[in-house]
Amino acid sequence: MPSPFSEEHQQFRKTVRRFCEEELAPHASEWERDELFPSWVFKRAGELGILGAHYPVAVGGAGGDYWFSVAKAEELPRCAAGGVSMGLLVQSDMATPVINDIGTREQKDEFLVPAIRGEKIVALGVSEPNAGSDVAGIQTVARRDGDDYVINGAKTFITNGTRADFVTLLVKTSPEMGARGCSFFLVPTKTRGFHVAKKLKKIGNHASDTAELHFEEMRVPKRYLLGEENMGFMYLMQNFQSERIIACASATAACGYMIDESIAYGRDRSAFGKPIIKREYWQHKFVDLTAKLEAARALMYRGADAYNDDKYVKNADVSMDTVKLISLAKIFVGDVASEIADQCLQFHGGWGYIEEFRIARAWRDQRLFRIGGGTTETLRYYVAKLMGL
Ligand SMILES: Cc1cc2nc3c(=O)[nH]c(=O)nc-3n(C[C@H](O)[C@H](O)[C@H](O)COP(=O)(O)OP(=O)(O)OC[C@H]3O[C@@H](n4cnc5c(N)ncnc54)[C@H](O)[C@@H]3O)c2cc1C
Repeated sequence: MPSPFSEEHQQFRKTVRRFCEEELAPHASEWERDELFPSWVFKRAGELGILGAHYPVAVGGAGGDYWFSVAKAEELPRCAAGGVSMGLLVQSDMATPVINDIGTREQKDEFLVPAIRGEKIVALGVSEPNAGSDVAGIQTVARRDGDDYVINGAKTFITNGTRADFVTLLVKTSPEMGARGCSFFLVPTKTRGFHVAKKLKKIGNHASDTAELHFEEMRVPKRYLLGEENMGFMYLMQNFQSERIIACASATAACGYMIDESIAYGRDRSAFGKPIIKREYWQHKFVDLTAKLEAARALMYRGADAYNDDKYVKNADVSMDTVKLISLAKIFVGDVASEIADQCLQFHGGWGYIEEFRIARAWRDQRLFRIGGGTTETLRYYVAKLMGL
């Protein structure tokens, strides 16, 4: 496949790289320790045009194609804290695509435009304490009351959840109809009845906040219903594709940095009289890991290309062939990323287990990839169905 990146994409890539290396990475350890990166990061990313390069000019984006998003996701791991990268990707590629796809002009003006500017922080509220992989099993309910909906229930694992200005929230409007009874709402977090119940402590991605949210008789006007009532599951399946492929782009890039840093470490670290990278065992290991990474990146690019073709060239929904390709990419990238992170940590010996080495944090952070946005097992189950097995 010829390089999908034009000169314009590469210029944008440099902007993201500079932002990560100069403005974010120097603070990464402090933000990891504090378990929160500051909110100015969203604003600054918005000012630099990082959050909306792939969104239309009409909503404050740059009108670029999907490869701008891929370039961004590939550079973000340079900020040296997976939590910062994740918080920004939720804002730009996970909680907002559905607003761009189906939002009204008023909804876009109120929510999407300020999100692209980084002036409003957004979270995606899908997972619940009793339903993650099985989204159709969510129990948060919105009942119609005059011109409003009244929402009761809970969401958990919500990235950006402690400080979001609004949540793109999936609920049941017709609980008896299962997946066909879900709807999306845009919910400002200052709405009465919205509560941040707790901030969850995680094993990785420490710099990002992850919340459990409770809703008690939370009254939301009908104008905040996104798209059609009871079509939420369909919209979510579309939205998932952006979430999954962009996470693949970020994970493959992070693996590339892990390999580069490990090889550099291995040139300086000696054992039994020579640098450990000069041991054939490790040389062959890094050759194999590099081959797997190249294969993973190629599959990710195929998925991104198919997504770009459906959404940006044909201006259509994501096709089932593309869904399958993206699911396969997420499965494969997940397995490869886990192997690379683990082997790179192993190559560092005891130092790999010590916080001051970046591999320790990178190893922890990448572990989420096989869980968030659809576990590898659930995706295998789903692809098997698509294959008619
Ligand atoms: C740090 C973090 C950030 C997150 N951010 C967000 C967010 O911003 N918004 C949001 O909505 N969610 C978010 N999530 C939630 C995430 O998407 C879910 O954790 C994920 O979808 C899995 O759901 P679950 O945790 O309920 O696991 P479960 O669904 O309970 O799964 C448990 C196990 O069962 C397996 N399993 C389930 N079904 C099958 C099957 N059919 N076949 C084989 N195995 C199966 C799973 O693979 C898994 O191993 C986040 C999670 C974390 C940890």
